[in-house]
Amino acid sequence: MYKADLIERAARFRSAEDDPDRQLASCPALVLNADYTPLSYYPLSLWPWQTAIKAIFLERVDVVATYEREVHSPSLDMKIPSVIALRQYVKPSEFPAFTRFNVFLRDRFICQYCGSPEQLTFDHVVPRRLGGKTTWENILTACAPCNMKKGGRTPAQAHMQPLIEPIRPTSWQLIQHGKRFPPNYLHETWRDWLYWDIELEA
Ligand SMILES: [Zn+2]
Repeated sequence: MYKADLIERAARFRSAEDDPDRQLASCPALVLNADYTPLSYYPLSLWPWQTAIKAIFLERVDVVATYEREVHSPSLDMKIPSVIALRQYVKPSEFPAFTRFNVFLRDRFICQYCGSPEQLTFDHVVPRRLGGKTTWENILTACAPCNMKKGGRTPAQAHMQPLIEPIRPTSWQLIQHGKRFPPNYLHETWRDWLYWDIELEA
C-alpha cells in the first residue's frame, strides 16, 4: 500500500476535538475481544453508548479509551467509553456473515465480469430459474450492464467468464480486503485497535 493511501485513510479518523459537543448517537463504543482485537470487523463491532455503559456496570467489559463527551446523572458524571474490551474471550467466527456489503468486499467492489466499479449489483452465476441459489458460492458482484447482458444464462452460455470463482471467504480474507475499504466513521481513539499495520508500513 502507498503512503498517500495510508495518510488518507488515517485522515478519516474523526478527531477528539469535537467530542464535548458530540451527539450521544455519534458515540458508539468499539468493542474489543479479551485479546484486544476487534470482536468483529465486518460489520465492525460497535455498541451504542447505553449498551456500553450497561456492560461497564455489569463488569463485563473494561474501559480502554473514552470520548471527551460526558453524561451526567445525580449520582455520577462519566465520560462516554469509546473503546471497551470484553473480560471474557469470545471465540471469533471463522466465517463472516453473508451480507451484501461482505459480498462486495470479497469482490473488492468491482464487477466480476468487466472490472467496473460503477452501478454495482449482484449476479446469480447459475441463474435462479436454473436452480441457482443465493449463496456465497453462487453470487458475484456485477455491474448493471453486465447483469443485464448475462440475463438468465450461465457464464458459459453467455460467454462471460467471471474474474473470480465465487467462494465463501474466511473472516481473515475479508479483513485483508477490508483494509482498502475502511468504514466511514472511525474515532481517533480506535486507531490503535484497527489497522495496526498503519504505523509499521508508513
Ligand atoms: Zn460489468
